[in-house]
Amino acid sequence: MAELTPMMKQYFEIKNQNKDYILFYRLGDFYEMFFDDAKLASRELELTLTGRDCGQEERAPMCGVPYHSAESYIAKLVGKGYKIAICEQVEDPKLAKGLVKREIVRRVTPGTVTEASMLDEQRNNFLGCVFADQSGIGICFADISTGDVYATGSSDWTDILSECGSFVPREVLVGGAAAGSNVLLSFLQDRLSALIEPMPEEYFDAQQAAERVMHQFQIEDFGAAGLTDLPQTVQCLGGLLAYLEQTQAASLAGLNHLQVHHQGQYMEIDLIARRNLELCETMRTGEKSGTLLWVLDQTRTAMGSRLLRQWMERPLYNPLQIVRRQQAVSALCEDVIARSALTDVLRKVLDMERLIGRVVSGAANGRDLRSLSSAIACLPEIHAQASLFGAAYLRELTSQIDLLEDIHLLIEQSIVEEPPVTLREGGLIRPGYSQEIDTLRDLSTGGQGEIAAIEQRERESTGISKLKIGYNRVFGYYIEVSKTNLGLVPPHYIRKQTLANCERYITEELKQLESTVLGAQERMKALEYDMFIRIRDQIGAEVHRVQRSAQAVAAIDVLCAFANVACDNHYICPTVDFSDRIEIRDGRHPVVEKMLKDSLFIPNDTVLDRGENRVAIITGPNMAGKSTYMRQVALITIMAQIGSFVPATSAHIGVVDRVFTRVGASDDLASGQSTFMVEMSEVAEILKYATKSSLLILDEIGRGTSTYDGMSIARAVVEYVADKRKIGARALFATHYHELTVLEDLVSGVKNYNIAVKKRGDDITFLRKIVRGGADDSYGIEVAKLAGVPNTVIKRAKAVLADLEATMPKPEVRAIAEESVPQLTMDALSGDAVAERLRALQVDTMTPIEALNALYELKKLL
Ligand code: ATP
Repeated sequence: MAELTPMMKQYFEIKNQNKDYILFYRLGDFYEMFFDDAKLASRELELTLTGRDCGQEERAPMCGVPYHSAESYIAKLVGKGYKIAICEQVEDPKLAKGLVKREIVRRVTPGTVTEASMLDEQRNNFLGCVFADQSGIGICFADISTGDVYATGSSDWTDILSECGSFVPREVLVGGAAAGSNVLLSFLQDRLSALIEPMPEEYFDAQQAAERVMHQFQIEDFGAAGLTDLPQTVQCLGGLLAYLEQTQAASLAGLNHLQVHHQGQYMEIDLIARRNLELCETMRTGEKSGTLLWVLDQTRTAMGSRLLRQWMERPLYNPLQIVRRQQAVSALCEDVIARSALTDVLRKVLDMERLIGRVVSGAANGRDLRSLSSAIACLPEIHAQASLFGAAYLRELTSQIDLLEDIHLLIEQSIVEEPPVTLREGGLIRPGYSQEIDTLRDLSTGGQGEIAAIEQRERESTGISKLKIGYNRVFGYYIEVSKTNLGLVPPHYIRKQTLANCERYITEELKQLESTVLGAQERMKALEYDMFIRIRDQIGAEVHRVQRSAQAVAAIDVLCAFANVACDNHYICPTVDFSDRIEIRDGRHPVVEKMLKDSLFIPNDTVLDRGENRVAIITGPNMAGKSTYMRQVALITIMAQIGSFVPATSAHIGVVDRVFTRVGASDDLASGQSTFMVEMSEVAEILKYATKSSLLILDEIGRGTSTYDGMSIARAVVEYVADKRKIGARALFATHYHELTVLEDLVSGVKNYNIAVKKRGDDITFLRKIVRGGADDSYGIEVAKLAGVPNTVIKRAKAVLADLEATMPKPEVRAIAEESVPQLTMDALSGDAVAERLRALQVDTMTPIEALNALYELKKLL
């Protein structure tokens, strides 16, 4: 078999160490891909597949992209979930002896991108890691573009899925038992479309992980960091750091903001509820428009926008923390003029958080530094404006703003106002900053002046008035003389090129000058590059200070957004406490009220508690507004717990630990489940995990099966939810089984409500008003008529209904004694007479009659 060419040998050496990456192999002005990588990239990027001689009989399939536009191609591939390894020429090809040396300089994966073009500025880009052993599960998420790291632990996979649903990582490393957890893997793959990467065990070595974590986050004491009882969390953080060390050639110094949270610290909203309530994305199109985030996002900075999303993903549980945010919003609401001045300056702040991320990772260019400087320039004004407000939280945030004057000064003094995109072509460093660069610059531009002088002198000495000195890359500087003046050319001119109308010459003097000028230019470029890198590193060393300021600005921005939204939409500050009461007067759905253009939103009241008003059964025809009403209660509760004001005239929210929803029916084709199956699995989850502090939104349970089946399930669920010994949660339960309204008299804590309609003849009008009592009918046929179902069908349906009502007995909901399930356990019996007697029995030697007698005796004892 023929030998591979030396270049192909080098290619394979590098490719073999990066098997699961698409290798971008630098070849001159292109990144080339070969073999399977080339086939895949040509398909995904619609590039022409060519071939290259590789020393074998068959040419190697090849395709490539120009190096200067590679970022957009990489973005596309990473967006599709591929991982890219970038292999550069690490020595100057002109100086290389033999094959140019090449190395991997960067690996880009969906969870580790830092390029602005590959990131959505309004959301974090998380890389997740899950590690599990027999005694627990650790989970963490890092955004390397901002430096945020979040970590927690649990013993329950449901918590872990909920964490994943809230952070929505694009790439997840799995180790230990997590790598074999089907429930986790299918959730990540099917629900989040995340790239999953199983990691080798040594990444999670407890000892090494602890050292890595301590070093990276500068932790001396795991207790103070909240990690004492979370060994798996430390291991998973260690695994994540090990992976980043492996894949990122750049410094990880920016990754220092570790926040460890514990289950119960935040309100939990699982992925289903998040989607159903359309918190950040609409269910149908996945867009932001039409969501709660769309209503609340009046942030002015990219950092604020990301933080708002984080606050919405994890509403608070502790009323004290919520009140702190509320007081800040109140203060901002009260002073319109100061708030608008603050908002105006926020608008000017560029994304400091990601800019400093690029500085630390070595990706920032001159323009990035100028952008950072212009963001820093806004800090004094933000500081001054925010200091005008008295609220404690705003004061604390203001005190966290470091004005970063030294960094601002450094950039202003050292970097030109409009630097080029590239770093190696010079033109970056401001005159006056470095004497050495200034001297070289003088030399190179002074050379230009000298050339003009030579031109003048030569014109005079030769008498050729139109003699010109020009420059091109091939010949360097030359003297150009038109054909008519050739007779005047002195003998020391050396002819270099003949053109149609002129001849070009060089002279010894010109050659010498040229090498001084060009040499100076080259040295200046190299020196400017080195100086820029030094300045960038110097700024990078201050990453923590910049991040701290950026985080404070982000929080001020979100609080201002809450205040703006509250004032624009007439929201009020809810009372939030640990009571069990949710009492809302004139509540409105924040999104629907904004969407209604021609009509007014009808406000409604809500009373839920853990006493007489645990479960509200809501009846009323389709389209009456049941779903809107129930979602509105959940959204107001969530808004209150993130610290926002709420759409109502008054509201009292006793905090909720989890919001569960079971709304609408949709087939889950991805996991091959029918509508009814999906509905029932969601119900099962809710009944398993809801606590007495949860809020449940249950819409049309039991709709996907026959009437009797459905009604029975619906009733049993209401009973289970209302029962204080089982769940006893606050719940809104919409149903079209108006027969279930009888439960108000049968089950403690259940109250009936209906959404009023006005019926005139066959026609109904929706009043959108929730009132006490149950609906007397489902009005299905009337709604069908309203929807435009042909009259003949409507008439026929009525006739069929009349016949059914005449011939079929109406289902009657009555009190049914709960079946008592004997719960005889040895534990319960231990110590008492029955247990003792049972233990004493010698079953092996008993005759049947003795056994019967013993049984009789035991029963009597019981
Ligand atoms: P279905 O059972 O068919 O899902 P529903 O009773 O849940 O119906 P919704 O979907 O909540 O009804 O509401 C139907 C429409 O009525 C909404 O899209 C909204 O435009 C309007 N609507 C609901 N509530 C109100 C309100 N309080 N004020 C004004 N319009 C409302």
